[in-house]
Amino acid sequence: MTQPIDLVLREIDSAADEIVDFAAELIRIPTVNPPGEFYPDCAQAIGARLQDFDFDVEYLAAASRPEHTKAYPRINVLGRRFGRVARPLLHLNGHFDVVPPGEGWTVDPFAGVVRAGRLYGRGSADMKAGLAAAIYAVEAVRRAGVGLQGTVEVSGTVDEESGGLAGMAWLAEQGKLDASLTDFVIIPEPFGVDRICLGHRGVYWFDVVTYGRTAHGSMPFLGESAIVSMSRVLDAIRDELAPALAGRVTAMPVVPEGARRPTININGVSGGQADTAQPTPCVADRCTATFDRRFLLEENIKDVRREMISLLERVSADGPGLKYELSDRLIVEPVQTSKDSPLVTALQTSVDKVNGRPAQLVASPGTYDHKHVARLAGVNQCVAYGPGNLEIAHQPDEWCAIDDLVQTTKVIALTIVRLIG
Ligand SMILES: [Zn+2]
Repeated sequence: MTQPIDLVLREIDSAADEIVDFAAELIRIPTVNPPGEFYPDCAQAIGARLQDFDFDVEYLAAASRPEHTKAYPRINVLGRRFGRVARPLLHLNGHFDVVPPGEGWTVDPFAGVVRAGRLYGRGSADMKAGLAAAIYAVEAVRRAGVGLQGTVEVSGTVDEESGGLAGMAWLAEQGKLDASLTDFVIIPEPFGVDRICLGHRGVYWFDVVTYGRTAHGSMPFLGESAIVSMSRVLDAIRDELAPALAGRVTAMPVVPEGARRPTININGVSGGQADTAQPTPCVADRCTATFDRRFLLEENIKDVRREMISLLERVSADGPGLKYELSDRLIVEPVQTSKDSPLVTALQTSVDKVNGRPAQLVASPGTYDHKHVARLAGVNQCVAYGPGNLEIAHQPDEWCAIDDLVQTTKVIALTIVRLIG
């Protein structure tokens, strides 16, 4: 006898062209962020498809957010299909904004070109193919005539590439996504058919400003250069902090391997009259540097900040006193879904069945919308699993393999049946 899940898989095989066409249709809407172009058009395209597939559809403008403007409205879309009962509820989320195309393309980044088994375009992997996979996974279950007990939602959201505050964070703040309603969240970001991503490292962005005393550039000995002070800070980061970070390793399965250790990057330095067209001879009295410190689940933000402050204090004690200020820009705590959770187990079983090989559990060096699901919505079962290859996201000639798209649609569909069927 044919099993329901085999019927579902068969529906996905026969819908393969439709899935690719829909992903290509989304790529042709150039939702470039910044500034956030064509969001209403893309939300509409997703909403129309969800409506065709029997979802109740809501368009949600992030009206309270400052980035929601007349020129660049922030419109999210949420489709819901009730099963026989409200819970459990599985939410599938994809962001539909894409980063600017940049240089170096050999195909039109917004044409949705299909060539040699690949779908090309900005956002093909990150993550319009993922959105198509999520929508068609639910639809395949319906076409196969498999009834669902629980409820399924699909959302298309904005601004993930710039922090997601008008997108996933906003949905959570509005109570559309909340632990009191939502049991499971799958975000089909491009980790590929074989990888289930459990979470990500933490982020601490901060600025350090050093202050000096200005004087005539012909007599620098009369002043005190803020740039020289900053270079003492940078030396200490290289000679003391970086080796200390290299000695710590997380138990999280972060890929690539190098990102299992905490890191610090100097995002930018600006001092004196660096950006002035016609500089005058002055000793710099101010220098600012922005840092990006990625921290581990095993570290905590208080210690991370304290470590930086004690480094600054040491630098100050080791020479002429340092006048500085440290200010936070952004803090994102690390998150990780338990590998023993029902969500991860259901996905693993589905990957086994579809791929014939076990999934690799990974974690991400950088953050994505999981943070909002965990911190704002309080939902603790959230993973990323979707088509495409993270390494080519944000690059010229971004592509997603069509086989990947079809396979991940199958895995997501089987997971839907397992979790809420
Ligand atoms: Zn993405």
